[in-house]
Parts: sequence; structure tokens; C-alpha cells
Amino acid sequence: MTASEASPSVDFIRNIIAEDLKTNKNNGRVVTRFPPEPNGYLHIGHAKSICLNFGIASEHKGGICNLRFDDTNPCKEEVEYVDSIKTDIRWLGFDWGDRLFYTSDYFEKLYQYALQLIKIGKAYVCSLSDQETREYRGTLTEPGKNSPYRNRPIEENLALFEGMRAGKFEDGLHVLRAKIDMASPNLNMRDPTIYRIRCAEHHRTGNTWCIYPMYDFAHCLSDSIEGITHSICTLEFENNRPLYDWFLDQLKVDCHPQQIEFARLNLSHTVLSKRKLLELVEQKQVNGWDDPRMPTLSGLRRRGYTPEAIRNFCERIGVAKRDSIVDIALLEHYVREDLNIRAPRVMAVLRPLRVVIDNYPEDQVEELVAENNPEDPDMGIRKIPFSRVLYIEQDDFREDPPKKFFRLAPGREIRLKHAYYIKCVRVVKDEQTGQVIELHCTYDPETRGGWSQDGRKVRGTSHWVSAAHSLLAQVRIYDYLFVKSESSDEKVGSDDKAYINSNSLETLTSCRVEPSLANAASGSCYQFLRQGYFCADSVDFSSENLVFNRTLSLRDTWAKIEKAQKKT
Ligand code: ATP
Ligand code: MG
Repeated sequence: MTASEASPSVDFIRNIIAEDLKTNKNNGRVVTRFPPEPNGYLHIGHAKSICLNFGIASEHKGGICNLRFDDTNPCKEEVEYVDSIKTDIRWLGFDWGDRLFYTSDYFEKLYQYALQLIKIGKAYVCSLSDQETREYRGTLTEPGKNSPYRNRPIEENLALFEGMRAGKFEDGLHVLRAKIDMASPNLNMRDPTIYRIRCAEHHRTGNTWCIYPMYDFAHCLSDSIEGITHSICTLEFENNRPLYDWFLDQLKVDCHPQQIEFARLNLSHTVLSKRKLLELVEQKQVNGWDDPRMPTLSGLRRRGYTPEAIRNFCERIGVAKRDSIVDIALLEHYVREDLNIRAPRVMAVLRPLRVVIDNYPEDQVEELVAENNPEDPDMGIRKIPFSRVLYIEQDDFREDPPKKFFRLAPGREIRLKHAYYIKCVRVVKDEQTGQVIELHCTYDPETRGGWSQDGRKVRGTSHWVSAAHSLLAQVRIYDYLFVKSESSDEKVGSDDKAYINSNSLETLTSCRVEPSLANAASGSCYQFLRQGYFCADSVDFSSENLVFNRTLSLRDTWAKIEKAQKKT
């Protein structure tokens, strides 16, 4: 596959790479990486970065994308996260092959680089307290002050740094800092910390180390060690680029990758920050990282989103250098588009109302034929049992139908999908509450399949199930976790729950679904006719306990937005 075939959309990053290839920079190699920190589950924002990095590599002959766990903080990182990240990347459809790395694999090399920096007089051990360090740093408008330890002799720095590694000092007593410029307008260049003492067990290196490198130092050197050509990251690292380059320049490494920043994904109604997502999990606002309301890949998967839909969405939004908020309706649009062709249609009644067909023989059961997906004849047909007692949706009946309500009402005829015309002849109510509990109807045997021979038209069509044959199911209806439509990242934290939607989950426990769903595979997706897309819950579903999550309703709000945009 050539580059032009694979990448119809050309963005500024792909342009840079195309230029580099023209001038044979990097000897024509394209090596990218996806560098998650294993301190949480991946979210839809990470999907953008994964599609970009793995996508670019796949578009070039010999292109490579490494998966590198950026595991330099022993306190927040866990094996659970490493495993989930691998699962999620594979699920999205990308493969790192044998290119799986950990920054912790380079701890010894990084330590040697730090020694080298000390030896050339570009790093020193600083013994200011955290508080003092902050005071010395200055502000955006005021320059910082040199640390009194800045001019420690090289020998002393070496001895102290070796002592730090050997575990001679407590956490926080010393740090190793780069010696750059305390007056730099870029705060990142004001002698940033490159190593700190952390007497903590690391999930891979155990207790081998009690000093850990900081992100800025570890990241550029890990990129360089792996021969990365284009180190693609989000815009918040723009001000770290001078530091990225500084380390590589001082250390005279063979490979100096180019850092390129792009705008992170922000989604309306959605928080995309691992820290805040962790808070939601820890405070039990949701039922874990894979709660179907979460924007994590595991949550979206459990909700019924498909990798194809997410990849199409990522391709559509593209990459740019300016921050913006993407309407979540666009993501939903791609999910509906994909599920429309993929999901078999079935009938399920979420809020059942009993219907007795008075003129239908008591013990008769018919097998009616229904297509599985009108979008795809190859998906075949199935048979649905029809009998005298049925359920329809409570919403599909009104005793006093308002104008434009075309569904069932006393004396009115409607179509039962794939079945017959029925007409409501009597309404049974609960004597105490006055609530409608049962309808009596008659059916027209001449309308089998749902079509009348005499050309008689009805305006309403309802879905239904046979009472005796249907199966009890639980259905979970989800809404946005955040009521605010702008990106809620800034607003929602431990101290601000105001934007959390308290009605984001509704559980319906007396739903009735057609019998074919007994054989559903956990995780499989369906369109419940007229209701939306649903999937068998990957955790709780079994043939004895049918549990479905509503992925999305059928209403495509994005299509509406687009239509409105076209008009203006
Ligand atoms: P978070 O902000 O959720 O805590 P992070 O940047 O700390 O994310 P990392 O594990 O460091 O998480 O991210 C791995 C990669 O994913 C980085 O290259 C980062 O730039 C990218 N990334 C993270 N969030 C987004 C986003 N919203 N849109 C695009 N890329 C993202
Ligand atoms: Mg990060």
C-alpha cells in the first residue's frame, strides 16, 4: 500500500513527514511511538493519538510505531493499567508487534546520561526544599534566582548523585537539576529537576531504584534511544520542546527526534483527563473504569461502540494545531453509521403493556418471518413467534391520543411489525389506580406480514413480542455523565460535582425481548426496532440473565446539525 492510497487526509504532521522523506532526513525512516503513562485507562482522546501515531507508521513503507509505557512514576502506576492499555490498543485495531518498550527498561542508560550531564557541568544536585525551590523559580513576569547549590563542584555533584542512587538520602532531601537559565522566559528552562528521590516500589523494577527521572528528561532520551523520528504529542508540551531539544543537544546523541505538537481532543459533555476520570471511579460516581458512561475505551466498548466507528471518527476530526471542542454528536454519528450496517434488528419491549388478541385462537402459535437487517440481505432472516397474548410498548398506546399521535388508541388500527394489523376494542384498567393494564384487540388475518390485501393504510407501526415466548431482560439506559455541554475538564473536580448528571443511568428490569436473544453473545450489538442500538453487557450478560446496555438511541443529532449548517 502506498502512502497516498492509505492516507487520503493530509494534515500538517503528515506534510512535515512527507517533506522529511523528500529530503531524505532520517534516511527515509518513519518511526513514531505512542507513550502512555500507565496511571489510568485509555480514553477517546488517546484514541486520537493512537490513530495518528500507528496510522502514520502504517502509511509508510517500513514505518514503525512503538508502544512505550512511560513508567517513571512508581507511586501512581500499576500493572492493571498496563494490561488494560494493551487490550484497548489491540481492540482499536493496532499492533505494536515486537515493539513494546518501557521507559523503566532505560533506567540504567538514563542514569548514565545524567552522570554525563553532571560531568560536563550541565547538571547539579540541589538541596533546596520543595518550598524554597518554588520561591527561587520566579514567575511568568519575574526571573528566578540561582540556587545556592548551583555551583557545587562536579566531583561533589557526582558523589551526591551516586549517594542518591545508593539510597543514602530520604525522599525530597536532594534533587538533580539541569543547569540552564534561571532567567529564561520559559519556566521549563529554569533549571528543571531531572531526578528525584522516591523510595517506592516500582511495578517492574521493584526496589532496584530509589531515584526516578522526570518526564522531560526521560521522554526525549527514550525517544532517542528507540530511534524515533517524529515524536508527536499534544500542545501542552509546546513549551517543553526547548527542553526536549536542550537535553539531546547537550548529550550529543546520535538520534535527535523532532517533537511535533497537535491539539488534543476535547469532546462536549465529556471529561478527558485521567486524573478526573480516576476521581469519578474512586468516588463511585460510576461503576469502574469500564462503566458504559465513561469516555474510556473500555467504557465505550462496553457501551457497544465499535473500533471502526472510533477510527472513522478520529479520521474525520483530523489533526490541527488549534484547540477546539468537538461535538460528541459527531462521535455518536459514526457509531450509528457503523452499527446501522452491523447490528441485527430484533424486537424488544422496554416498558411492556399486555395485549390480548381476542379473535386469535388460544393455542395457536405462528412463526413469522423477519429480515435481520434491511441494510444487508446477507444477514438473512429469522422467525418470530406470534400468539394470542403479546406485549407492546406502553408509549405506543394512548387512551386519549393527542393530535399527531398515530399509534394505538381505542377504536384505532395499527400495524404490528412483521405481523398483522390489530385494532383496539377494549381497555382494561386497574380499579384503584386507573392505570391501563391490558388492551383487548382484534387482528385481521388478511394482513399477515403486516400488509393489507385491500390497500387499507394505517399510520402507526409498533414493535411487539409474544408474551409466552419472550424473555425477561434488564436494560440500562445511559445519558451523558455531565450536563454541561462545553468540555467539562476545567469545571469538574472533587470539589465541583454540580455538573454531574444525576440521571445518567436508568435501569429497566421488566423488559421483554424476543426469544432469539437467548443466544446473544456477550458484547454483541443489536438494533432494538424503533428504540436504538443495544449491546449485550460484556460483564453481566448470560443466557440466564439477559442484560443489555443502550449504546445510543436512533436519533442522529449530528445529521440534524449538519443539515442546519448546510442551510445557512
Ligand atoms: P490525561 O490528560 O488524560 O491525563 P495524559 O497526557 O496524561 O492524559 P498519557 O498517558 O501521558 O496521558 O498520554 C499518552 C499520549 O496520549 C500522549 O502522547 C498524549 O499527548 C496523548 N493524549 C492524551 N490525551 C489526549 C487527548 N485528549 N487528545 C489527544 N491525545 C491525547
Ligand atoms: Mg501525560
